[in-house]
Amino acid sequence: MRDDIVLRLDRTAAEDLYVALYEAEEHIAARAASTPPTAEEADRLGTLPRDLRHALGRGCSPYCDHL
Ligand SMILES: [Zn+2]
Repeated sequence: MRDDIVLRLDRTAAEDLYVALYEAEEHIAARAASTPPTAEEADRLGTLPRDLRHALGRGCSPYCDHL
């Protein structure tokens, strides 16, 4: 599948992502309250949108640190 996207995560970030996705699913499906991530979780998850944007070939902000 040539259009696949591969993101590499360390285990801690993967666990944080799982919890965030699970909570989003519960929030949408059952209207459950979602718990905001801790500052550390937010920091670890903060790079995911950037990495995904790069993997998808979308444009970066002029402030992106990879430029
Ligand atoms: Zn970038």
